[in-house]
Amino acid sequence: KANDIYKDLKRVAEERGVDKDVQIVKTGCFGFCEKGPIVKILPDESFYVEVKPKDAEKIIDEHIIKGRQIKSLMIKDKERKKHLETEEDIGFYQKQVRIVLRNCGVINPEDITEYIARDGYAALEKVLFEMSDDDVINELKKSGLRGRGGAGFPTWMKWNFTKQVKTDADEVFVVCNADEGDPGAYMDRSTLEGDPHSVMEAMAIAGYTCGAKTGYIYIRAEYPLAINRLKHAIAQAHEYGLLGKNILGTDFDFDIEIRLGAGAFVCGEETALLASIEGERGMPRPRPPFPAVKGLWGKPSVINNVETFANIPAIIAKGGDWFARIGTEKSPGTKVFALTGKVNNSGLVEVPMGTTLREIVYDIGGGIPNGKKFKAVQTGGPSGGVITEEHLDTPIDFDNLTALGSMMGSGGMIVMDEDDCIVDVTKFYLDFSVEESCGKCAPCRIGGKKMFDILEKITKGAGTMDHVEQLQAIAVSMKKASLCGLGQTAANPVLSTLKYFENEYLEHIQNKR
Ligand code: SF4
Repeated sequence: KANDIYKDLKRVAEERGVDKDVQIVKTGCFGFCEKGPIVKILPDESFYVEVKPKDAEKIIDEHIIKGRQIKSLMIKDKERKKHLETEEDIGFYQKQVRIVLRNCGVINPEDITEYIARDGYAALEKVLFEMSDDDVINELKKSGLRGRGGAGFPTWMKWNFTKQVKTDADEVFVVCNADEGDPGAYMDRSTLEGDPHSVMEAMAIAGYTCGAKTGYIYIRAEYPLAINRLKHAIAQAHEYGLLGKNILGTDFDFDIEIRLGAGAFVCGEETALLASIEGERGMPRPRPPFPAVKGLWGKPSVINNVETFANIPAIIAKGGDWFARIGTEKSPGTKVFALTGKVNNSGLVEVPMGTTLREIVYDIGGGIPNGKKFKAVQTGGPSGGVITEEHLDTPIDFDNLTALGSMMGSGGMIVMDEDDCIVDVTKFYLDFSVEESCGKCAPCRIGGKKMFDILEKITKGAGTMDHVEQLQAIAVSMKKASLCGLGQTAANPVLSTLKYFENEYLEHIQNKR
């Protein structure tokens, strides 16, 4: 649809003879998916939503030629009886702080000069000409940046391990984990589609800091637009001397290759991902040794996910102290969430850590549709758990979500209302984890299936109280004994829903439905 609008805008501009006066460009995602497709007009920032191809004539004739804003394409605030003209007026954007998504919906991701015009590659230049590898590590340490892929491990520590263990003889690798596979999550895909250079620039900075000459982006093949934009961005970075040999005229060489994943969720687990890049079956292996010490082809490797990398050019350019002032003391910065489910404004949201779930669901998300009651939010996808009404005012950060029995995960956030059956939702997530289990270790392979079978019985009216006890026992063992993160966290939805919604399990059992 957005492509059709783009083509129609170009065609009409040509027909009216104004194609030289107006530049029509595609951007990445604006985040406000609920109201897409979106057309933004610069320099006045008019924000047109739910645009259809037939609106192209109106936009060119009225706005571009006559200079009149088109109110019918704007969001109408019924309470205040006014049209919301720019992003700044719209509640969805007001509590957001955009660091990772700073260029998404702003630049044409297929034009490197637009990235450069927004200070793109300035951080790499600063690193190459003004900073030592230790300076970069110190800046990351000051920033407090923690890995956004789920576990929240301090980024500076990962980089420092690799830097310290490598010997002169060692080849070192930088790896970007773009194997986002949680149901409902699309943060990394959108970042790569909207701003591929920010990730590539950060990978080059990691290469300089840790002594790597090669970086790999491991991305699932189901993301064709992101892959094409990355390929284009890599070619343009070569043309501009920002990748390849003697970057910016220095003796630093660094290049990036893309590796396609076949869509196995377990390949988001870093050791499985490395095996897949090596051409092996994507199965996790025990850690230690950690990839920072023994990674790709047994060599020290820095692995971060897309969102973690996308923060780094801004941290280097503006300083670790600047970043540390955003968010909370233990989880500085922002987090990108894919807000979906029963919420009025679904979309991609970037908020400072410490923002409450209530602010995300109600102020940004616009609340629950059709006057229904809020029931819970699932954070962290199939690895996370539910957050209930009583915890809506908890400031979101890595530690608070873990304390509530959920987790940040990569940032999927699915809102449920009073009509959703919690046991059905739990079964859905478990079904996903069972399907995606690689089968290497028994607790996950057998435990997951066993729990799924019990949930199947409960939701079909054949459950007993013993089943609830069994679920609890298997979940705890699976968490403790599974080899990798997939199995260790697959039981979280069961444990958290048993904790907060045991009554719904009992209703199924007692009412035999
Ligand atoms: Fe494979 Fe599951 Fe074991 Fe991980 S926990 S290694 S996914 S079987």
